[in-house]
Amino acid sequence: MPYDVVVVGAGLAGLAAARQLCVHGLNVLVLEAGDDVGGRVRTDRIDGFTFDRGFQLYNPAYPEAARVLDHQALGLRPLTAGVVVSFADGRTRLGDPRSRPGWAIDSAASRTGSLPSKARFAGYALRVARTPATTLLRRDDTTSAVALRAAGIDDALFDKVLRPFLAGVFLEPDLKTSRRLMDLILKSFVAGTPAVPSSGMQAIPEQLRDALPAGAVRCNTTVKKAEPGLVVTEGGEFRVRAVVIAADAQQAKALNPRLSIPPGNSVTTWYHLATQTGDLLNDGAGVLVVDGDNRGPVLNSVVMTNAAPSYAPPGQVLITSSALGTNSSVEDERRVRTHLAAMYGVSTDRWEPLTHYAIPYALPAMPPPLQVPRSPKLTDGLFICGDYRETASIQGAMMSGRRAADAVLTDLGMR
Ligand SMILES: Cc1cc2nc3c(=O)[nH]c(=O)nc-3n(C[C@H](O)[C@H](O)[C@H](O)COP(=O)(O)OP(=O)(O)OC[C@H]3O[C@@H](n4cnc5c(N)ncnc54)[C@H](O)[C@@H]3O)c2cc1C
Repeated sequence: MPYDVVVVGAGLAGLAAARQLCVHGLNVLVLEAGDDVGGRVRTDRIDGFTFDRGFQLYNPAYPEAARVLDHQALGLRPLTAGVVVSFADGRTRLGDPRSRPGWAIDSAASRTGSLPSKARFAGYALRVARTPATTLLRRDDTTSAVALRAAGIDDALFDKVLRPFLAGVFLEPDLKTSRRLMDLILKSFVAGTPAVPSSGMQAIPEQLRDALPAGAVRCNTTVKKAEPGLVVTEGGEFRVRAVVIAADAQQAKALNPRLSIPPGNSVTTWYHLATQTGDLLNDGAGVLVVDGDNRGPVLNSVVMTNAAPSYAPPGQVLITSSALGTNSSVEDERRVRTHLAAMYGVSTDRWEPLTHYAIPYALPAMPPPLQVPRSPKLTDGLFICGDYRETASIQGAMMSGRRAADAVLTDLGMR
């Protein structure tokens, strides 16, 4: 019996669990079905381009992730704090005047909400920022839309800014997501500026893997059966003291049919090579652009190389854009590019589509009442973790992994 624990899945939850178990001296094997670590945080590095498999950002203020990761080694490249809202008749830049003084006048524009409404939103965000996460998770729950309206947000700020912006965070258009999750996310936005590692998002799971003993992760190995103390793959079986299922929700259910899992929200991310220089697009800022007039399929878009020049060969301008659903035909790409022309106010006729990723289960849906965290122990010798057990985020996945590992340590009498 060479291993104490087998972890099924080398996404962030599984790697975080493995890390915590190894720190406490256990001999751990992580079995991963895919050809590399990362799960939903994978990056393709092709011909000098960096394509994250789905646009996503890491917030250095995520507490559990910050506790474990070496931010300096990740070479984090922050996006510009703020958002550009595009309209049929122009664009409005909303941002923290301290970092972008030139955007202050735009930020006051009434088409994106009255000043009192903006002040009420700022007050709401600052209040949640000062409230401990455990308290936020115990507050009465409702949808994010209802909570924002109850906070006195007016139609313009809600419809033109917050709804399009948060739809891109939750990957659902109606803000039916739990206000508890929204509050946690707003808390992290106040505390930190979302960023990407200079070599792509997969640098995060790679750093976790590299901290494990050599050979602790075995890729291209699909687990067929996971039971208390027993894991079966096509190549053989492992009898261990504990098993941690860190597969995504749907695969976890396939391994354990009694598990109840939430439905998933889907997204398609497109990468285009622009013909304009980065300076011409968003004043050279790597800022999120959303559509205040809701004119097309694109949820949000970023000139990625304005934030992280390392995402493309020198002089090339890489645009990342996401749309809800998994629509990825040639016609869908044309619709996206036409919408991008309206959003950026430039011609996109000669923008070159480089690649795209359609992800059917990108995020677990998290409607109210959000009851997390859920117990990581299924039965003696069998544990479970993943973002859908905690919160739909990098922080949630890593925290869930640590909780599962701590439960294993408790059961083995090591805590
Ligand atoms: C497009 C997109 C955008 C996102 N945006 C953000 C964002 O901006 N900020 C943020 O914080 N979070 C974001 N997220 C969420 C975040 O990426 C996830 O919450 C997190 O990566 C989930 O990690 P996990 O370990 O729980 O699951 P997964 O990453 O799904 O890992 C599960 C692993 O288990 C493996 N597996 C499954 N079944 C088996 C089996 N039978 N045998 C062996 N291995 C198996 C899978 O191959 C996979 O590697 C985004 C996600 C996506 C997809």
